[in-house]
Amino acid sequence: MNILVTGGAGYIGSHTVVELVSRDHHVVVLDNLSKGHKAAVRGIELVHGDTGDTGLLKDVFRKHNIEAVIHFAASSLVGESVRQPAGYYHNNVVKGLALLDAMVESDVRRLIFSSTAAVYGEPVEVPIPEEHPTAPTNPYGATKLALEGAMRWYGQAHGLRCVSLRYFNAAGADPSGKIGEDHDPETHLIPLVLKAAAGLASHLEVFGTDYPTPDGACVRDYIHVSDLAAAHALALDALAAGTPAAVYNLGNGNGYSVLEVIKAAEEVVGKPIKVKYGPRRSGDPAALVAGSGRIMAELGWQPRFADLKTIIETAWRWHSSHPFGFGK
Ligand code: UDP
Repeated sequence: MNILVTGGAGYIGSHTVVELVSRDHHVVVLDNLSKGHKAAVRGIELVHGDTGDTGLLKDVFRKHNIEAVIHFAASSLVGESVRQPAGYYHNNVVKGLALLDAMVESDVRRLIFSSTAAVYGEPVEVPIPEEHPTAPTNPYGATKLALEGAMRWYGQAHGLRCVSLRYFNAAGADPSGKIGEDHDPETHLIPLVLKAAAGLASHLEVFGTDYPTPDGACVRDYIHVSDLAAAHALALDALAAGTPAAVYNLGNGNGYSVLEVIKAAEEVVGKPIKVKYGPRRSGDPAALVAGSGRIMAELGWQPRFADLKTIIETAWRWHSSHPFGFGK
């Protein structure tokens, strides 16, 4: 299939490109490189441009005979979204609508959307099934949910067929060690733990020790980025087979606390990691764990790297060989 991947030079996007190419799809990446890295998509056609540029989108659709879009390009930092909601509505909703319009006008009607567990907000039930109420507690989750809603109505009105994948905590790196996570600023737990392990940070700060969890630290469901990537390929197959629309959670169904992640990382790197205990980070729910039964049952998705230590090992392979990410 001819596939356009927006945000394909980013973390999850670039891993998905690797997966698609391994399945013999023809991939074109559209990325404005505001966060993504050119070096993450070597050997793939990269169009340097913006998802809000409908003229450019239509040209790319025509030139490459695009049959499906996987849409990653978005702003994705929870804390930043609370401080700057306008930027999030603009990037994630306004530009998202520009993409949907360009698709409809160009008769490209298959879309896989990079959504998030943040659409659920504070869980009333864990593991969280897809039927869980959606009540985002920050603009990031709200903007992702807004585009999910638009996709549903574009489906009814224009025959656009969409799969939304609601990721829990993406982690790890391609087992080759050639691509991995490189955010600026880095806010995610596992890369920060490994930076502390590598001596690039003095310590890791644990955000909150008084949560109602077994050890008082936040619990999350870490899912390997290559397992996420594989889910996108399966979702594309489902659309090709005629699925009109679907929403799937993606996690392993196992929750690990921040302290358990640090302990597993210490075992992987073979030395203690210096930790300081700080206050809670605002907006962090105590525990987020996915119920991913639906995608397993309907698409046959199975994680290949479900074990936390394996996830951290692949991340360590990348971080220890690329201490400055793609930059150096
Ligand atoms: N966390 C932490 N210290 C850090 C970064 C993150 O204790 O320096 C915690 C954070 O509070 C959350 C978990 O690690 O409970 C995962 O955070 P991350 O930012 O990786 O992902 P999120 O759950 O926000 O999507």
